[in-house]
Amino acid sequence: MQLELWTPRVDPAFAAAVARTVAEVVAPAAEAIDRDDHYPKDVVRSLARAGYTAATFPKELGGGGRPFADLVAIFEEVAAASAATATSLITIFQAGETIHLFGSEALQRRYLPAIAEGLLCSFAMTEARGGSDVKKLDTHARREGDCWVLDGRKAFVTSASAAELFVILAETDKGVTAFAVPSDTPGATLHSPPSARTFGLRNGPHVDLVLEGARLPLDHLLGEEGKGIRAAATTLDHSRVLAAAIGCGIARAAFSGALAFADKRSVSGHYVIELQGIQWYLADLLAEIDAARLLTYEAARHLDAAASTHKLPRESEVRRRALLDIQRWSSSAKLVATRTAVSAALQAIQICGVRGCVETAPFGRYLRDAKTYEIAGGSSEILKNTLGEYLLAAVDGPG
Ligand SMILES: Cc1cc2nc3c(=O)[nH]c(=O)nc-3n(C[C@H](O)[C@H](O)[C@H](O)COP(=O)(O)OP(=O)(O)OC[C@H]3O[C@@H](n4cnc5c(N)ncnc54)[C@H](O)[C@@H]3O)c2cc1C
Repeated sequence: MQLELWTPRVDPAFAAAVARTVAEVVAPAAEAIDRDDHYPKDVVRSLARAGYTAATFPKELGGGGRPFADLVAIFEEVAAASAATATSLITIFQAGETIHLFGSEALQRRYLPAIAEGLLCSFAMTEARGGSDVKKLDTHARREGDCWVLDGRKAFVTSASAAELFVILAETDKGVTAFAVPSDTPGATLHSPPSARTFGLRNGPHVDLVLEGARLPLDHLLGEEGKGIRAAATTLDHSRVLAAAIGCGIARAAFSGALAFADKRSVSGHYVIELQGIQWYLADLLAEIDAARLLTYEAARHLDAAASTHKLPRESEVRRRALLDIQRWSSSAKLVATRTAVSAALQAIQICGVRGCVETAPFGRYLRDAKTYEIAGGSSEILKNTLGEYLLAAVDGPG
C-alpha cells in the first residue's frame, strides 16, 4: 500500500500540477544553484510563466486571483526542491505585495502585470547598522521639485544581483518611508562586499544597493510618507507565511530523503527503518512536520480571511484585530516551520550516517538553508517578541 506522506492542503489537482512543474523546472537545477551561488533567472522566469510570481495578485492586474493557501502550496513544493529558488520568489512577492497594498493605482498597473510576466524584484530594509531594528535608517530621501532624491546603502539584499526593481525603506523628514526603485535609476548601483555570500539560501550574493543622488518620480513613494515601517511590517507579516512554507518544504525534503535511505540501507541484517530507535526519530519528525504544515496553512487561512479588511482604516477595531491575528499566525508559523526544518535536516543527517555527510548528498544544503531561514525575514527572537506583544494585547496590557 502506497500512503501519501504530505497530503495536499489545497485542491489536489492544483497541488499535483505544481509538483509536476517543480519536478520539471526546479529540481534539475537545485544543486547547481546552491553550488555556484547564482540567481536562477531562467527557472524563475519559467515559474512566472506558470503563474507563480503573481498567484495572489488581482486578475485585472495580471495576477492569478488565487487564495493564499495556493501560494503556500507553491512555495512549499518549490522549497522542497530548492529553497534558494523559493527565496528568489519570495523577494518578488515582497516587492509586489508592497506595491499591491500601498502603491498608487498607476504604479500597480505598471509593475504588477510586469511581475506576472517575470520582472525580478528585491525587498531591501536592512542596512549596516539596522537589521532587526529599522526604525532609524541611514538611507535618506529628500524631495527636490518633482523628484525624490535618495542617498544611502541597503545591505544583504536577497536577489539583488538580478533584480530589476527594488522596494526599499528610506528616511524622510517625516520618518521611514517605502519607495519603489527601478534598478536602472541613475545613481543606483550594486556593490558586492566579501560578506555578500551566505552559506545558505544561495541564490546569488546578497549584495548592497548603493544610492547616490538617485532620482525617483514622486509617485514611486509607496503608501504614506513616514509610514514605511507599517507598510514593510504588513508585507513581512504576509511573506512570513511563505517563509514558513519554505521551512515546511525543506523539512519535507530532509525527511523524505532520510526515510528513503532508511528503507534501503541494511545494517546487521535489518533495514535501518526497522530499528526502533530510528523509527522514533522519524515518528517525532513526522509529527513535527505535520504540525508545522497545519500551522502554516492555518496562517494562510487567516490571511485570506483578513483580506477584506485591508482597505479599512487602521484604527478601526475590525482592522486592528485582523492585523494582530495575522501577526500571531504568521509569526508562529515561521517560528515553528523554520525550527522544524533545522531539526529535520539535522536528524536526517544522523539517520543517514556518513552518507548524510557527503557533499554529493543534499542534506548539508537542507541544513544550511534551514538555519539561514531562522534569521532571514525576521529572526526567531523577533518573532517571539511579536508573539509577546500579541499576548500583551490579549490581556489588554500588563496589570
Ligand atoms: C540569507 C539572508 C538573506 C537576507 N535577505 C535580506 C533581504 O533581502 N532584505 C533585507 O532587508 N534583509 C535581508 N537579510 C537581513 C535580515 O533581515 C537580518 O539578518 C535580520 O533582520 C536580523 O538582523 P541582523 O542580522 O542585523 O541581526 P541583529 O539585528 O544585529 O541582531 C543580532 C541578534 O540579536 C537578536 N535580536 C535583535 N533584536 C532583538 C530583540 N529586541 N530581542 C531579542 N533578540 C534580538 C537577533 O535575533 C539576532 O539573533 C537577510 C539575511 C539573511 C541571513
